[in-house]
Amino acid sequence: MKTVGILYICTGKYAVFWPEFYRSFSANFLPELRREFFVFTDAEHIEGEEQDNVHRIHQEALRWPYSTLKRFSIFLTAEEALQKTDYLFFCNANLVCRERITPEEFLPRPERGENLLLVQQPGFWNKKPLFYTYDRNPKSRAYIPYNCGKDYVSGGLNGGTTPAFLALCHELEARTEEDLAHGVIARWHDESQLNRYAAERSDYRLLSPAYWYPEGWRMPFPVKIQVLDKRRFFDVAAVKRDARGEGPLDRKLETLRRDWLPYLWFLRDWFLRKKL
Ligand code: UDP
Repeated sequence: MKTVGILYICTGKYAVFWPEFYRSFSANFLPELRREFFVFTDAEHIEGEEQDNVHRIHQEALRWPYSTLKRFSIFLTAEEALQKTDYLFFCNANLVCRERITPEEFLPRPERGENLLLVQQPGFWNKKPLFYTYDRNPKSRAYIPYNCGKDYVSGGLNGGTTPAFLALCHELEARTEEDLAHGVIARWHDESQLNRYAAERSDYRLLSPAYWYPEGWRMPFPVKIQVLDKRRFFDVAAVKRDARGEGPLDRKLETLRRDWLPYLWFLRDWFLRKKL
């Protein structure tokens, strides 16, 4: 029987999500395969840790955004154990598996050239690449010009065959550290690094936002894996010390930046024949 390693980080307040994640994923996520839960946490005890497939691994709580940015290094602290699995999937803490998910619908299919599993980010599944919130800073290793890229994938649910996913972790750990050495943090942290990695390749299976369906949204997909609204559980802005403006002028400027300026940047990058 194939073994699936589930990578899960819950430091600080995020430990609140573990019980529902654990119960719903145990019940519904690839139940015909052996599941091994690798839980990186600073909690002293987690539900299910007495089971032999739940591995609590001590991880100190890093401050935002390092708690998410450093995830590739965090996973690699357990690399020896992870190598014993056949597939690895990372799941954000606030996910709930609402429907049974089968290997046929979810696993990458090497016979079709797929080694990784990526999921479309629900904010962008129906948008053109120039509107994706890729990292547009040429100084970042996650940089993608406006005339490049195909998909925008979620940082919160991804994986692949174990060799392919560990290779991804090593590469993105190195790129993240290189950025940090230059004083750069990619726009959406690990998600930006992942999107640049995806833009360089095509060996991935891409699933719809059915597998990354935010609570309270309405999209033409069934809700297979739901993303809980963190604001129901704690003050997210306090965790992230979010100081961004929220006034009417801020919102107008944001609309201009989001919906109109990309046309201009696309023309510039297309004219300059920018490449990855
Ligand atoms: N995370 C954590 N502790 C923190 C912040 C983040 O464990 O204090 C982990 C957790 O797995 C979470 C992930 O990092 O799901 C990404 O953070 P978050 O969900 O806040 O980011 P978003 O997806 O909203 O950008």
